[in-house]
Amino acid sequence: MPDSIAELRRDLSEAYRIVANEGILDAFGHISLRHPTNPQRYFLSRSRAPALVQPDDILEYDLDSNPIVPPVVRPYSERVIHGEIFKARPDVNSVCHHHGPSIMPFAISGVPMVPIYHLGAAMGQSAPFWDSRDEFGDTNLLVVKPEEGASLARALAHHSVVLMRRHGATIVGGNLRELVFRTIYSARNAEYQLAAHMLGHVSPLTPGEAKMAGGLNLAPGPVGRAYEYWVRALAEREGRGADDPSVRRAEAAARLPAPSQPAGKSPKSGTAKKKRRTS
Ligand code: MN
Repeated sequence: MPDSIAELRRDLSEAYRIVANEGILDAFGHISLRHPTNPQRYFLSRSRAPALVQPDDILEYDLDSNPIVPPVVRPYSERVIHGEIFKARPDVNSVCHHHGPSIMPFAISGVPMVPIYHLGAAMGQSAPFWDSRDEFGDTNLLVVKPEEGASLARALAHHSVVLMRRHGATIVGGNLRELVFRTIYSARNAEYQLAAHMLGHVSPLTPGEAKMAGGLNLAPGPVGRAYEYWVRALAEREGRGADDPSVRRAEAAARLPAPSQPAGKSPKSGTAKKKRRTS
């Protein structure tokens, strides 16, 4: 959890730029983060392309998506997506809504997206669909009314990803890093599922595999390792070097101690035992 709201603004704006740099957010889409000490509030950028979002762009809202301080800049029109999901899901602390190119074929066709490789298990075992037509008929497709956001949150239910027909996807996470990891790897999963389908048979993970791989992916090691890579790639894109404070922070967070060895066994003896067992 960030130590201050200034750090939260820094981390959240960096997450926008990371997910943009990975090709998922473009001119549109947004990421929110629940207030760390007041769960009835959340933070979201002003209406701006994610690749451009800076700490000063972050605005604070209540869960009805009303701004805490009347903004002098334009807010995102679809902010009820975030407020209504935070209301419905106390376990969710971060939300990303996007129209990324790899998930759009699924959102358009209605073909189910399923986890098809180990890292794709970050999406969970399945992603339900939400269709604005079911409850609201003809709209301009944007989710702008509280009742539309609440309807989307009902379709999401206990899942981590919900696909929005003819529109995009919304992803949730327990914290910002988990949300970024899930957003990026659910998009990769969609890309690979579509590519594999063109080759022929697609064999998804079993529910047991999806549960085990999904749990492993979101452990501190894999998330820290991926985040260090994304932060460094973003810094290079933005012309900042390895000495940049955000790069150094991500590197330190990713540097985990070696797993502890069982008492009385060196790594060498463990290897020898394994060799004997498998020979
Ligand atoms: Mn949208």
